[in-house]
Amino acid sequence: MRYVSTRGGSSPVGFTEAVALGLAPDGGLYLPESLPNLEGKLKDWEGLEYPDLCFSFFKEFATDIEENVLADIVRRSYQSFTHPGVAPLQQLDEDLYVLELFHGPTLAFKDFALQLLGNFYEEQIRRTGKPITVLGATSGDTGAAAIHGLLGKEGVNIFILYPEGRVSFLQERQMTCIGANNVFPLSVTGTFDDAQLALKETFSDQTFKERVGLSAVNSINLARILAQSVYYLYSWLLLPEQKRTRTTYVVPTGNFGNVFAGWLLGKMGITMGGFHLATNQNDVMHRLFESGIYAKGPVTPSYAPSMDIQVASNFERFLYYFVDCDFGKVREIMKSFSETGSYRFEEFHNHGFSSSRASDQEISAVIRSVSSSHGYLVDPHTACGLVNLNGLLPCVVLATAHPAKFPEVIREAVGAEPKAPSLEDLKDRPIVNYPLEPTREAIQNFILENTDF
Ligand SMILES: *Cc1c(COP(=O)(O)O)cnc(C)c1O
Repeated sequence: MRYVSTRGGSSPVGFTEAVALGLAPDGGLYLPESLPNLEGKLKDWEGLEYPDLCFSFFKEFATDIEENVLADIVRRSYQSFTHPGVAPLQQLDEDLYVLELFHGPTLAFKDFALQLLGNFYEEQIRRTGKPITVLGATSGDTGAAAIHGLLGKEGVNIFILYPEGRVSFLQERQMTCIGANNVFPLSVTGTFDDAQLALKETFSDQTFKERVGLSAVNSINLARILAQSVYYLYSWLLLPEQKRTRTTYVVPTGNFGNVFAGWLLGKMGITMGGFHLATNQNDVMHRLFESGIYAKGPVTPSYAPSMDIQVASNFERFLYYFVDCDFGKVREIMKSFSETGSYRFEEFHNHGFSSSRASDQEISAVIRSVSSSHGYLVDPHTACGLVNLNGLLPCVVLATAHPAKFPEVIREAVGAEPKAPSLEDLKDRPIVNYPLEPTREAIQNFILENTDF
């Protein structure tokens, strides 16, 4: 299987290379050259345990990794999950299901992809003998999940920038109370945007990039998307057969990575009832599906901080299929968008998507009402998906984080704080971080001082 860039300006590459590169050299995102049809496999895949299903799925894509190596990578990636089902499907009502994606080490769905990605990196280093330097900027969950996916890995050093004083108490501890000597949380002055800018400048220095084997862990990596497709498939197979093709997946959405991963299965012969993307007040994707206009807005901090974004980096992957794999058209639209901050589609087909947005007040109200009617606590991101289920049943709502990660919002909503043992442990541990100015020079010097390059 080979992988092409959505902009058609880079030559196709194999799976391991697409994973190692993250972003394609022409600035596009990688997608499979052609998608397999999985319909014929479903009979054999029914009833498989999560890691076995994940292995069977990745066998279709990671064709340049030996099967026994791949099997081992996948098995190790899900050992760190605390629930035996890995992604348990809870039924709250006749036609209402919740897919719990928060049983990994950092209690958010990003662990599914980053545990696996960490092991793919390790395999890459084993093959090439070249150590790598992972650099990322985070406003919360990604940084913690990336650190937990890479800590202690041979040949990998990981540097995560986060804006000092602007991530939550628990998120900061998930990044800084690690005790692994290959992990460097860098608390930078300024906002997340300042960190993001310094990161971009560091990546644009080609000489430095090659010298230290710089790699990014943002949500554009293809392995992250494919890892997320697996839990859609897994939960779909857990549903009663007569419901499967009618069931809508409701997905709390920021960068459009998670919901895209599910939608992609539809192109592989798996029929679902549809996809509903649920945004918070930062509603760039909701506005697109309502109006056919993709337009940046200002980011305003919300109760669901991991969805506070204004440019959905995975949208380009959907766009590629939307324009029938026409590279030129993708380039034209992305160029226009980056120059003007918006793009208006002449005719907009929703391709099976519907959407909604939730205000902070609605998030709070939903946490309260789901708690009293079903005795079930949802986190503020998941709550966005439960605001209005009219016309969406039967549905599976993706629970993207554990409620204990957001104690303040939950306390305000229901008057009590949920607890998770792994977070309780963190509360008393010392923070180890490195204060830094958000500049290219400061970042590069820090990396060189702390690695053998
Ligand atoms: C990252 C994140 C999201 C948004 O996912 P996207 O793939 O960016 O759409 C939603 N909920 C939580 C808890 C997250 O960490």
